[in-house]
Amino acid sequence: MLAAVMHGPRDVRFEQVDDPKILKPTDAIIKLSATCICGSDLWPYRGLQPIDGPAHMGHEYCGVVVEVGREVKTVRPGQFVVGSFCISDNTCPHCRFGFQSSCVQREFMSGAQAPYARVPLADGTLVATAELPSADLIPDLLAASDVLGTGWYAADAANVREGSIAVVVGDGAVGLMGVLAARQLGAERIIAMSRHETRQRLAREFGATDIVSERGEDGVARIKDMTRGVGADSVLECVGTQQSMTQAIECTRPGGTIGYVGVPHGVTFDGQAMFFAQRRMLGGPAPVRRFLPDLIDRVLTGKIKPGKVFDLKLPLSEVAEGYRAMDERRAIKTILTV
Ligand SMILES: [Zn+2]
Repeated sequence: MLAAVMHGPRDVRFEQVDDPKILKPTDAIIKLSATCICGSDLWPYRGLQPIDGPAHMGHEYCGVVVEVGREVKTVRPGQFVVGSFCISDNTCPHCRFGFQSSCVQREFMSGAQAPYARVPLADGTLVATAELPSADLIPDLLAASDVLGTGWYAADAANVREGSIAVVVGDGAVGLMGVLAARQLGAERIIAMSRHETRQRLAREFGATDIVSERGEDGVARIKDMTRGVGADSVLECVGTQQSMTQAIECTRPGGTIGYVGVPHGVTFDGQAMFFAQRRMLGGPAPVRRFLPDLIDRVLTGKIKPGKVFDLKLPLSEVAEGYRAMDERRAIKTILTV
C-alpha cells in the first residue's frame, strides 16, 4: 500500500510500505475511513524532535475492522471502530483508574496516515459503534481519536464544571476542542486566548464567550481584569512552551487548576514559586480511551460537531502539502481522505 513516511525534517513522502499484518493475537487490522495530521506531528517535521530513520506517521484513526487476532473478543470484522492514539489494555490498575495513557502495556499508535493500519491490544483500545456511521460523521468521529479527546482531557484535568470560569491558552486544534469541551462540561464563561481572526471565530462557534488577543503579561493582566483580579477557576494549557505555561499558571486563581496537554518543550518549573502560588496541575498524554464512549455518543446524537476543526481536506496522496499547510499555519488541521 501507499502511505505517509517521514524521512526527516520537512520531508514527508507518500510511498510504498508493507501492508500491516496481525503480529500478535491481540491485534486488529482496520481499513481507515479517514485520517489526519496532528499538531504533534509538526515537532519532528520542524526538526524539533529527532526521529530515528523513516517513520510511518499517523496516530489518529477510525475505520472498519478487516481482520482480528485469535484472542480479540470485543471487536469483529465489519464493525466501525474509533481508537485512542494511546494503545492500552484497559484492564491494568492504571487503566481501571481512568489513566489508560499510562497503561502498563502502553504503546503509541503509529502508521495511521495510511489506507490500512494495525491496532495492538484491540480489545482495550478500540470502541465499536452499533452501526456503520454515515459518511458526514466521519470527521467528527475521527476527531475523537486524539484532538477532541485531548481537548476534553484538558478540560477534565483543569476541573471544569458547571459554572466554572475557564481560560484556554492556545488556539490550535486542541485548544479549540478544549473550548468545546469546557462548554459541554458546563463552564459559564470560556475565555479563549487567540490572536488569529479565523481561529477566534471558530472558538466562538465552539462556545467561547470572550476572546483575549494579548499574550504574556498583557494577556494575564486582561484575564485578571475580567475576573475582578481573582483569576480563572480552570485553565487549559494547549501549547507546551515556557511562555504559554507561565501564562496559564498566572491566569489561574489560587486553588484553581491547570490542565496541560501541550507536550512541554523546554518548560521548567520553579518549585518555590509553585509552592506559594497554590495551583493544582494535571497533564500528560490524554487518556482518550476513558472518554471515547461518551464522545462517540455525543457525536452520534448530534450534540457536538468537533469535525469543524478540520479546515483543509486533501487526499492521502497529498499528505506532504497537508503538513506544509499546517506548518505555515495556513490550515488549523488537515483531514486526509483514503
Ligand atoms: Zn492498562
